[in-house]
Amino acid sequence: MDNRLAADLDGFPDLLTAARDYAAGVLDGLGERPAAVPPADVAAQPLPVAGVGAAQALEIFRERWAPGFSGSAGPRYLGFVTGGATPAALVGDWLTGTFDQNAVTRQDSSAVGLELETVGWLRSLFGLSEAHSGTFVTGATMSNTVGLAIGREWLGAQKGVSVARQGVAALGDIAVLSGSPHSSIYKAMSMLGLGRDQLRTVPLAPDREAVDVAALEAALASLGGPAIVVANAGTVNTVDFDDLNAISRLKAKYPFWLHVDAAFGGFAALSAAHKHLVTALDAADSICVDLHKWLNVPYDAAIQFTRHRDLQVNVFQNAAAYLTPPSGDPDLFHLTPENSRRLRALTAWFTLAAYGLDGHREIVERNIAAARRFGDRLATLPGARLLAPVRLNVVCFTVDDVPATLAAVARSGEAFLTPTVYQGVPALRAAFSNWRTTEDDADRVITALGKALAAG
Ligand SMILES: *Cc1c(COP(=O)(O)O)cnc(C)c1O
Repeated sequence: MDNRLAADLDGFPDLLTAARDYAAGVLDGLGERPAAVPPADVAAQPLPVAGVGAAQALEIFRERWAPGFSGSAGPRYLGFVTGGATPAALVGDWLTGTFDQNAVTRQDSSAVGLELETVGWLRSLFGLSEAHSGTFVTGATMSNTVGLAIGREWLGAQKGVSVARQGVAALGDIAVLSGSPHSSIYKAMSMLGLGRDQLRTVPLAPDREAVDVAALEAALASLGGPAIVVANAGTVNTVDFDDLNAISRLKAKYPFWLHVDAAFGGFAALSAAHKHLVTALDAADSICVDLHKWLNVPYDAAIQFTRHRDLQVNVFQNAAAYLTPPSGDPDLFHLTPENSRRLRALTAWFTLAAYGLDGHREIVERNIAAARRFGDRLATLPGARLLAPVRLNVVCFTVDDVPATLAAVARSGEAFLTPTVYQGVPALRAAFSNWRTTEDDADRVITALGKALAAG
């Protein structure tokens, strides 16, 4: 054994204590760490030939790289839609690496059982019936991709072909319809050979990001054949929701696969005032929900639900002499693009075991309250203007000079916001999805924004 490696094996417990103490310090300072940090100019070093051992590597990391890391796990990083990691989720993450299970098969471990228990918990959290099976993937992009891959196989079945066997050319004309699809839907269509340009956008309801259901019905009626409909449950600009009830009722009249992108909007199910937005979620054929956003587990985690596991197996089965064939309850490498993978469910298992439905409901409600407060105070801030009502946890607004304001807020270290364009207007978004965030944080960001606007 290499000397350094042997020494680390001997000193393993001390090493973990050092890493734990360092992590505790980082977490303790998270509230005051700048939300965003301009990337430092760190020159890349050549590959070490003789290593330095883990303790020294930790020192080097602390000195060279850690100072340039953002406070994205903290309470005032409001860019994109970004969650942090709850204490229990972080414990789960450490133990994921500690046990290092390859969570795909039941041949050697009960890790898959833990994953399936977690799927069951998430199914109840989102109010889904047992008709939905679920699988963990790395993020919502991959969840959308898997959902559309199964939908693509379903389209083939309607036309009497198997895309998994014959290839996407066998499909002929493809119709994928959506109102305000997330950018990852286009990426998924590119990866799946459906083609980015094949997405047919359907008109939106007036002054909304939700699809005009009458226009969707007209589009379906004019097709005369099967289609995929991507419904959106929580758009990134204004957190608008397609009318899932009305769309699912169209299934009785027209043949289509209903995929719902509920990456973070799915968590509306936890809020008494908003759960009506997702009560029809169960009617979907496939559903995407991100977990590293509003469940507040570390990256990379999302779940993919579907009512059609048979078609999922057609697409993703991985046959080899040493693997279990995909019958009955298929092993997990028959269900998603990955074969080997970490026990991605453990972080979600820990946070749900630790805080339960009530704990996670409290996070969601508190984030919504913070977004409301931010929106209310913004409405009185000179130079800022709301572009849409605050529907859930994202505030979409504009100012005179968007880039200068974003930069000034980021420089202050107080907060990080990201830009967008809404209805042709350059805009800013503040997304509240971190378990640490309070209404006081919303106030601090308003103060920072007020200063930036006054200075500009
Ligand atoms: C974030 C998001 C995605 C993509 O999620 P990743 O985890 O970044 O892959 C897809 N759809 C919606 C609505 C999102 O908010």
